Amino acid sequence: MAIDPQFHENREQVDEHKGHVVWGPVDEPEELGIHGTHVAVDFDLCIADGACLEDCPVDVFEWVETPGHPESEEKADPTHEAQCIDCMLCVDVCPVDAIDVDAGRTA
Ligand code: SF4
Repeated sequence: MAIDPQFHENREQVDEHKGHVVWGPVDEPEELGIHGTHVAVDFDLCIADGACLEDCPVDVFEWVETPGHPESEEKADPTHEAQCIDCMLCVDVCPVDAIDVDAGRTA
């Protein structure tokens, strides 16, 4: 399963986290939803591989701890999504297709 690129139409905004939107459903700690809009990470798919943090040329991502989540106990959070230059590296390297990038998508 990959992140739903239409999540902004299929999900609802339920929260904000470090300046970006969280799209539900969220039921912590097992279900965490999608973080971000321009740069979106499905926290329920993320396995904390870390390739996106290593490869992003403008350091969009930061680790956030998510203890108790079944896939991984930390996630790549798109904290600085406004800095994204749409190179698509993170989308290409994510081993579980948890990331989608679309500059035209708005919350
Ligand atoms: S598309 Fe490129 S610049 Fe944007 S978050 Fe991904 S790796 Fe970073």
